[in-house]
Amino acid sequence: MKLTEETPYRFRVERHGDMRVPGIVFASRALLPSGETEKPLEQVANVATLPGITGASYAMPDMHWGYGFPIGGVAATDVRRGGVVSPGGVGFDISCGVRLLTADLTSGALSPVMERLMDGLNRAVPHGPGRGAVWKLSGPGEMTAILREGSRYAVERGYGTDNDLERCEDHGAVGDAVPEGVSERAVRRGLGQVGSLGSGNHFLEVQVVTEVHDTKAAEAFGLRADQVCVMIHCGSRGLGHQTCTDHVRTIDRRMSRHELRVPDRQLACAPVDSPEGRAYLGAMAAAANYSRANRQLLQAAASRVFADTTGRPLELVYDISHNLAKLETHEVDGERRELCVHRKGATRALPPGHPDLPSGLAGAGQPVLVPGSMGTSSYVLTGVPGGAAFHSTCHGAGRQQSRHQAARATRVGELRAELRERGVVVRGASARGLAEEAPAAYKDVSTVVEAAEGGGLCRKVARLVPVGVVKG
Ligand code: 5GP
Ligand code: MN
Ligand code: MN
Repeated sequence: MKLTEETPYRFRVERHGDMRVPGIVFASRALLPSGETEKPLEQVANVATLPGITGASYAMPDMHWGYGFPIGGVAATDVRRGGVVSPGGVGFDISCGVRLLTADLTSGALSPVMERLMDGLNRAVPHGPGRGAVWKLSGPGEMTAILREGSRYAVERGYGTDNDLERCEDHGAVGDAVPEGVSERAVRRGLGQVGSLGSGNHFLEVQVVTEVHDTKAAEAFGLRADQVCVMIHCGSRGLGHQTCTDHVRTIDRRMSRHELRVPDRQLACAPVDSPEGRAYLGAMAAAANYSRANRQLLQAAASRVFADTTGRPLELVYDISHNLAKLETHEVDGERRELCVHRKGATRALPPGHPDLPSGLAGAGQPVLVPGSMGTSSYVLTGVPGGAAFHSTCHGAGRQQSRHQAARATRVGELRAELRERGVVVRGASARGLAEEAPAAYKDVSTVVEAAEGGGLCRKVARLVPVGVVKG
């Protein structure tokens, strides 16, 4: 694939074939996919053919192959100019995201209670592919409330405070959710999973701030050196997966009716302003609210364990998703336009002063939460004025080995010993799960974050290292 270097951290995929806009890849030379692994770049080019796509088809430095869109892909389509919405641009784990919490503790205070704390978290936080959840729903009526109100409903029921909602994207719930668009089958899959991590890459991690890059922003976020934090990464479980599956099927069937052709069937799409497009967005919003409630409940469960074990409950820094399509207004060519911004394995990064920020964060910008791996680091970033890709940045380190490759390459005994040596207490992971998630399976998160910052997408605020992890 022909790439033009615009800056050391920004490469252009020249328009070719049916591409309506160029591709823009934010990465360093070393991070760029190449040779055998060029598939994600082909996906960037495929996304650039979508009707109504505006600006460019963007990829973040943690990009890797995904269903239809690359993971780390950002694409905005113009709603008034035939722009489409594609479920492949959101992904199966609708509104998967990260919630970061702080404890008023330093690492030294944690050491003596660490094993007990991790045992408590392991018991209180349902994880793994099986059943078990914080919440037993009283019935379908309660599910409708979750799908409509997300974290707000969890808070209403006593699992958090209004202050938490201030610190959630969309104040805890995406508007215009259509619970009726979530199938009975999806609801059935979700009933027993409200307040559960799920498996694989999802986790709850106890971390310590090791570096503060931006003292002012860190202070606004409530972060300081040597502080104990908790990071939760999970999504919408079986309910979100089923919702994506259901709507991909309908949208795929109706493509010809809208005379839409895409180079890859996984890019099935519908005009935003069509019954199928609106139906998907309404159901997606409902599934997103399920994931928001999910993370709120896990915060409550973890906070109780912290309060019992250390005397300090947890406070919310921010909750942000990295798999979502949002209707947003952006200025393009001097004109305000309504865009459907797909972020798939990419995080929104609002700059200081943005009207959607809560007042406490107005001066600092939106916290961007970037998990790295259970053995290395994670980062907190913030948005910057003029941030490219419609104010988006990376969402993680990004895989460099498939699950299968990682499982084959990892000796689990050695990995466990290595983590122990690095001072990371592990709970809950199956041998296979642990191997698939070995730090070596992921790119170097510091390099990824440097490229994102170098590309003008965000700014570093703090680096955190893991001390304990409950793996899904
Ligand atoms: P995804 O949403 O694409 O599944 O994962 C987001 C990112 O989470 C991955 O790119 C990876 O960098 C990071 N990650 C996966 N497992 C862990 C973990 O156990 N701990 C931390 N801190 N990060 C992880
Ligand atoms: Mn997920
Ligand atoms: Mn995720």
